[in-house]
Amino acid sequence: MESSLTARDRVGVQDFVLLENYNSEAAFIENLRRRFGENLIYTYIGSVLVSVNPYKELEIYSKQQMERYRGVSFYEISPHIYAVSDNTYRAMRTERKDQCILISGESGAGKTEASKKILLYYAVTCPTNDHMATLGDRLLQSNPVLEAFGNAKTLRNDNSSRFGKYMDVQFDFRGAPVGGHILNYLLEKSRVVHQNHGERNFHIFYQLLDGGDNDLLTTLDLERKPQNYHYLVKGNCPRLSSVSDKNNWKVVMKALSVIGFTEEEKLLNIIASVLHLGNTQFGEGEEGETYITTETQITNLAKVRTVPLVLLGVQICKNTCKKMISPLDFEQAVSARDALAKAVYGRTFTWLVEKINQSLALKVGKGCSVIGLLDIYGFEVLQHNSFEQFCINYCNEKLQQLFIELTLRSEQEEYETEGIAWETVQYFDNKIICDLIEEKHKGIISILDEECLRPGETCDVSFLEKLEDTLGGHPHFVTHKLANGKTRRVMSREEFRLLHYAGEVNYNINGFLDKNNDLLNRNLKEVMCQSDNQILSHCFRREEVIDQKRPEMAATQFKNSLTKLMEILMSKEPSYVRCIKPNDAKQPGRFDEVLVRHQVKYLGLMENLRVRRAGFAYRRRFEAFLQRYKPLCPETWPNWHGRLADGVSALVNHLGYKAEEYKLGRSKIFIRFPKTLFTTEDALEAK
Ligand code: ADP
Ligand code: MG
Repeated sequence: MESSLTARDRVGVQDFVLLENYNSEAAFIENLRRRFGENLIYTYIGSVLVSVNPYKELEIYSKQQMERYRGVSFYEISPHIYAVSDNTYRAMRTERKDQCILISGESGAGKTEASKKILLYYAVTCPTNDHMATLGDRLLQSNPVLEAFGNAKTLRNDNSSRFGKYMDVQFDFRGAPVGGHILNYLLEKSRVVHQNHGERNFHIFYQLLDGGDNDLLTTLDLERKPQNYHYLVKGNCPRLSSVSDKNNWKVVMKALSVIGFTEEEKLLNIIASVLHLGNTQFGEGEEGETYITTETQITNLAKVRTVPLVLLGVQICKNTCKKMISPLDFEQAVSARDALAKAVYGRTFTWLVEKINQSLALKVGKGCSVIGLLDIYGFEVLQHNSFEQFCINYCNEKLQQLFIELTLRSEQEEYETEGIAWETVQYFDNKIICDLIEEKHKGIISILDEECLRPGETCDVSFLEKLEDTLGGHPHFVTHKLANGKTRRVMSREEFRLLHYAGEVNYNINGFLDKNNDLLNRNLKEVMCQSDNQILSHCFRREEVIDQKRPEMAATQFKNSLTKLMEILMSKEPSYVRCIKPNDAKQPGRFDEVLVRHQVKYLGLMENLRVRRAGFAYRRRFEAFLQRYKPLCPETWPNWHGRLADGVSALVNHLGYKAEEYKLGRSKIFIRFPKTLFTTEDALEAK
């Protein structure tokens, strides 16, 4: 019988639910490894797609491949990101329910590439709307722009997204993409002023210096060499071997014009100002006052017209606190300068996302259905974990909670609609950890905010003490003092440890208060409001300076945006793509088992498989089951004309299925053990 699966496609099992020994992590990893060795980077767990980054171009993304996956069921063809794209699209069309695809995995695992492939699939295969013929292009072109401003080289990924992204693609009644909307989360602003060794600042700085023509650089008073800029030298890594900044500059400029952007000049002025700001140096006067020693930088800043000259020079060195003006000392001046650079860059990024959203906004009628794509940082455990990792890992706890809730819910619902008795599944509910972090009044975020607001001497250490007072005894919270030397790993006195669903992480408290406060001194805000640059005067509003109310702190802002995100995701039908990084060297063909095992754990894949296998390993719609196996039974071959359920009954009776091996629902057959299905498949092959 003809099958679109070749022998090579069948290396290992293409769906983990078919693993004989589904409780064995070793068997799980061995299956991944064998398939990876054959360039089969995709494998399912039921409807979840597991993807292993090949670190090389595979010939599996062509237009012909897209065609192969259109309208085809999962099991008929080898697993693919296009299959997920297509199934999601069809579910949206036929069930008229909004969908979302959640892509997770650690940095460098291939999340962003996956999301781009999904978008490309829709742009190529969906019908186009006459009014909106260019929308597909604009959706695609938003990527290079966001990547230039929001991505950077890190040790783990040469093109690492330093922000989280949720993107809605809206489709009209004919299934044509007609609009889009992007939500961005927590840009890593600290990168603007500091990079670790071997890492870079955001791509756009280097692209501008390398790709901008001479006239442009002269206008912006910039020199070509990144080494001349204080904000670009920290990582000692001005060039990338894998990409050309010059070429990408062209790509980004073209993308901006496709999106219909008219503010390039103002935008580049801002990028240049950040570099000039970084080169502003300070000296200390005899009476301890601070002044700017690099007049030219300030002149340059004024020249690119981002801020009025005199004002900035004066303001950066002083601090107004409730009308008392105090000069800043040297270090304070440096950090005021850096805070300004971070604020300018961060707000400009948000503005850019708004601009892209305007360009993608629905112009005609209303979109009737939506597919959302979430590309967000995975669970992160570094040598040194700080506020950023705390937020990222909190986000992953929330996503895990959503995942458990939705997977169980959809399993349960399917059993119900099919009229099959539900068998309870034991699983770890991580709500206790989410509460530990986010609960009102006694969660870590509340305590952090309180400590930031408390008058008098507060510091990171007093924050840690407060945590110990409030949370001592919580089963998922440990510190040096609370542990009394009882933990396996020695903890420093400046850390707290959270026992996340995915494992233990120690967080160093240094900088938590500052990062949560994220304060920019008022004088600088005031100066920015007066900027001639309309992007900046849009980003720094007068009201903000006048308004005495303290804006929300960083962690609370993040928490609120996550709550909204969860609501959005809850209202949609989810699909999952779980990305795995096979090695730390970014090399093709290498499969580091230890590294992969960690990720299998952090992604909760074994748990996922257990839930999926708890009842029945496999299920198929009656039509599909009959269509595939009808040659095996004289009663159903060549065609079955009666009720579908009766046909399936006749077929499985003929095949000798035992009662405990399967159940018939209303529209699907449920098969308990993979072996049953394998035997049937073998019979088919032998025919
Ligand atoms: P993440 O967004 O998870 O941090 P990326 O999607 O940026 O990771 O992937 C990192 C790098 O890995 C990419 O720049 C690309 O070189 C490579 N890569 C990822 N997915 C694929 C793929 N499907 N095929 C080929 N290369 C890939
Ligand atoms: Mg990414």
